[in-house]
Amino acid sequence: MLRDEKAVVVFSGGQDSTTCLFWALETFKEVEVVTFNYNQRHKAEIQCAIDIAGELGVKHHLLDMELLNQLAPNALTRSDIEVKEGENGELPSTFVPGRNLVFLSFASILASQIGAKHIITGVCETDFSGYPDCRDSFVKSLNVTLNLAMDTSFVIHTPLMWLDKAETWKLADELGRLDYVREKTLTCYEGVIGDGCGQCPSCVLRKAGLDKYLQEKEAN
Ligand SMILES: [Zn+2]
Repeated sequence: MLRDEKAVVVFSGGQDSTTCLFWALETFKEVEVVTFNYNQRHKAEIQCAIDIAGELGVKHHLLDMELLNQLAPNALTRSDIEVKEGENGELPSTFVPGRNLVFLSFASILASQIGAKHIITGVCETDFSGYPDCRDSFVKSLNVTLNLAMDTSFVIHTPLMWLDKAETWKLADELGRLDYVREKTLTCYEGVIGDGCGQCPSCVLRKAGLDKYLQEKEAN
């Protein structure tokens, strides 16, 4: 039934949202992607998203969200602020308050304009690093709110919500796209594509998940 419907993927060009894009392409008849340009730390992120969408022949919407940087200067948007993990329950320095609230709201407006019922986001509660708007309860709550706001029946899909990083690699593999995701996506805070710089928190998390998955695969 979903095969006949249209979907929008919130797409950054990273491992998670690219895996979600491949999932969506297997699930829906028609898929478009939306990327938010908020003056990311690395312009390479936007270019990576443009390149992947172009390569896969998917219609790409690039929305200007630079005002987010104006509201919340932090390590994701300002190269003079160091990327640090949160300590003692503090939020990491990559945190932009309410970012997913804003992104999903704008994605739903776009969805209503292009006649898409389904919205896909790669948010994940398992690798939860303190982002309250990545939680399942928040996404479900927002889904209800958006439907009330626009008198529609959007369905927000979160294929990665309960997966850890190793399981996200497994999903990419099941979709036949592990090598593509490994080589073409950008999650590194230093802006290095594929396996990345190997040092930043994002690279460390990504590699630990990949190693775990490849070991499990080999053992079976
Ligand atoms: Zn890195």
